[in-house]
Amino acid sequence: MRSTNEIRRSFLEYFGTQGHDVVPSAPLVPYNDPTLMFVNAGMVPFKNVFTGLESRETPRATSSQKCVRAGGKHNDLDNVGYTARHHTFFEMLGNFSFGDYFKEQAITHAWTLLTRVWGLPAEKLLATVYHTDDEAFALWKKIAGLPEERIIRIATKDNFWAMGDDGPCGPCSEIFYDHGPQIPGGPPGSPDEDGDRFVEIWNLVFMQFEQAAGEIVGDLPRPSIDTGMGLERVAAVMQGVHDNYDTDTFKALIAASESLTSVPAAGAQRASHRVIADHLRSSGFLLADGVLPSNEGRGYVLRRIMRRAMRHAHLLGTHDPLMHRLVPALVAEMGQAYPELGRAQPMIEETLEREEIQFRRTLSNGLRLLDEATAGMDEGAELPGDTAFRLYDTYGFPYDLTEDALRSRGIAVDRTGFDAAMAQQKAAARAAWKGSGQSADNEIWFDIAEREGATEFTGYNSTQGEGRV
Ligand code: ATP
Ligand code: MG
Ligand code: MG
Ligand code: MG
Repeated sequence: MRSTNEIRRSFLEYFGTQGHDVVPSAPLVPYNDPTLMFVNAGMVPFKNVFTGLESRETPRATSSQKCVRAGGKHNDLDNVGYTARHHTFFEMLGNFSFGDYFKEQAITHAWTLLTRVWGLPAEKLLATVYHTDDEAFALWKKIAGLPEERIIRIATKDNFWAMGDDGPCGPCSEIFYDHGPQIPGGPPGSPDEDGDRFVEIWNLVFMQFEQAAGEIVGDLPRPSIDTGMGLERVAAVMQGVHDNYDTDTFKALIAASESLTSVPAAGAQRASHRVIADHLRSSGFLLADGVLPSNEGRGYVLRRIMRRAMRHAHLLGTHDPLMHRLVPALVAEMGQAYPELGRAQPMIEETLEREEIQFRRTLSNGLRLLDEATAGMDEGAELPGDTAFRLYDTYGFPYDLTEDALRSRGIAVDRTGFDAAMAQQKAAARAAWKGSGQSADNEIWFDIAEREGATEFTGYNSTQGEGRV
């Protein structure tokens, strides 16, 4: 069996020997794109190379990029703990060609690595192509020998990538692994494609057109390649398990959490352990990259992740802060590949502990209020927005934590009411300030506070700059 660490190494080594520069992961906070909250794809650090703003000596690169998808368009937060394949933090393995090789070579590399180097059974693999991309369809037949029924034409945006409204764009081809009929779920393009049977492991993006104002205006002079493969997903495949949370890294983190809480990861507690393991990774890596918990922007996304994990620790019956005691397990698993984790270990532990002590002061009272407010509610009911707002305002419950807490009982939260209560409080604060006769500066401050807000950083919703390998 190959460990996750070996798989990462082997990927980089394969593309290294194929003439690619092996580039270390960029930090999670993007340095080249102020509209993006966190790096969410391997291509993000190379965006300016693809658009031609920057050039590199070598026209090929490969990396294992730290990614966080916990807000905005790419928000996998709600999936964590409940699907077999989504994390808030994950690593994206990628190979990139900047105007060098194109479709044929990209498909050849992917197929060679998966089936020859790693020895995965070809009959378990499927590919999707954009419905009009006859070239990719023919290449999958020729290179991989895939039968036509395992090359699936998809007409949706899932198989068409664009950097925004302007710039490079093109069709993509996603490689899926069939974990077998014992797992529920249908093939890509079918009505039950969201199940876990057919798991997307690798996305190959063929950048070949130029867009302006959302319309294709011509061919790129030098077509490029951008690919992204989820390390945790391919590790599951290679370790013969269908679930990312059963891979070596997650098993070790979950074992540490089981041992510190003395609660086995089974039954209703399974999801809690998974959420804790996942959020430990995203919190640890975000802290190591300089994000600190706060009430706005990136810091608030981090705080939401941390507090959600802390509620699950509480659910497991822990009376003392837990998260900081799991950091050594995280460093043991991932510190070699990412030395910044080890360097930041004392700071990560202190920050997690401080946040958990602080949050635990109000957590039980908040949960009591939540219990009272939902007593007698049945599945399908909705928690009033002003109650969710009180939980937020008085007890420090991020909105999504309340949602997560009610999920197992099938109770929803009134988002519109929550937003209205928030807006009302802001208006009251603004009026109070105006009354104090302060200068126009305060207006600006409130505008910023409203935009960047305590609820969510909205800049991330912009499609501009979204790397969607
Ligand atoms: P999915 O459809 O499963 O949500 P995606 O199409 O959103 O995946 P891409 O944007 O194509 O994902 O990212 C490239 C690869 O990164 C995917 O093929 C997958 O292997 C991996 N990946 C994407 N999102 C996650 C996640 N939240 N957790 C773990 N791996 C992920
Ligand atoms: Mg997705
Ligand atoms: Mg997909
Ligand atoms: Mg994809």
